[in-house]
Amino acid sequence: AQHTGGHHPVQEGEVFNTRYQALRELGCGAFATVWLCQDMRRKKQVAVKVLKSREGFADTAQDEVTLLRCVNCMKKKDRAGENIISLLDDFRMIGENGFHMCLVFEVLGPSLRCLMGNYTTQGLPLPFVKKSLQQVLTGLYFLHKRCRIIHADIKPENILLYGHDKSLQRLLMDTLDCGQRTHVKLKGAGGDPGNQLEESDLMSIEVKIADLGSACWTYKPFSKEIQTQPYRALEVLLGLDYGTPADIWSTACLAFEMATGECLFDPQPGKYFSRDDDHVARIIELLGRIPPQIAFSWNKSTKFFSRPGALLRFSRLCPRSLPGTLADRHGWTPRAAAAFAAFLLPALHYAPERRASAAQSLRHAWITAP
Ligand code: ADP
Ligand code: MG
Repeated sequence: AQHTGGHHPVQEGEVFNTRYQALRELGCGAFATVWLCQDMRRKKQVAVKVLKSREGFADTAQDEVTLLRCVNCMKKKDRAGENIISLLDDFRMIGENGFHMCLVFEVLGPSLRCLMGNYTTQGLPLPFVKKSLQQVLTGLYFLHKRCRIIHADIKPENILLYGHDKSLQRLLMDTLDCGQRTHVKLKGAGGDPGNQLEESDLMSIEVKIADLGSACWTYKPFSKEIQTQPYRALEVLLGLDYGTPADIWSTACLAFEMATGECLFDPQPGKYFSRDDDHVARIIELLGRIPPQIAFSWNKSTKFFSRPGALLRFSRLCPRSLPGTLADRHGWTPRAAAAFAAFLLPALHYAPERRASAAQSLRHAWITAP
């Protein structure tokens, strides 16, 4: 039977495009599965992302290739591009489910999501958090300013770890079994003691931004619905115009989650309200009232707000402050909490045009301090 849509069922040992032999699965997301493959021509390992086949997905896949080619081209001129994954090749494949676009990448390690799985309660060590955020922000600076690209899906699953030196990269690869299903084992976290990542290894791990599957040009946004819910910027939630600042909002959410082990916003639907309603309410509780010029700048806001600017489906909110949350809930000292909040708040500014840019965030005292 002819199926349309879905993942291509890859067999171990299968050879793609007469060149890439599938060794094992590296991970999967909503749109693709990624396989570790042996490039039989170049005699090295690569990661092949096999996109789902479906009408519409094919276009998205072509966009991803076009954007990645632009990134490759600009990389020749600017070192900041090192923080974005490199596309090596692309091809089309016909499988039992139809056409699949395939993208070939350098092999990286597991994602930040895998790493954070071991630190769910206390967050990652701050020096590592700051270093990785510097790399993410440098990558975003490059995408925004050099390539004029909005990533549109910054989240832990799309930030991949790698080791410059071969043994660390090996270790990362060995501790990773398969995408989000297993976690990197850190020393002290149980499991086989012979093959573990130690906390000191963390400091030599680098990160790169991957997955340009939702990305678009700054001057030509492709869709209204971008980003993954907890990382979605206010302007996107409200259906307003968005731009590169939307990536900075997501990065602030990412920063908080790396540093504390908890999502900054974890919206849930209720009996009388949607997940979006809850999300807007959680944002107001933490960051304060949304000024009317933002709340009412597009008519979808009637979905959320009454005429005087109150939330429609919530009568009571529990305001909390960001430094207060860091101190009370996560045990940070008032000083450390204030310093981190001073970094996060400008990156969560409601007005996108007043939100900190990647360059400004990179210069902030919190991230430059050791
Ligand atoms: P999707 O668009 O479906 O989210 P991604 O490009 O994010 O696809 O890839 C899905 C997962 O595959 C990632 O979260 C990561 O775990 C893994 N992955 C992707 N690219 C690589 C790579 N180059 N090296 C190692 N793992 C990768
Ligand atoms: Mg992804």
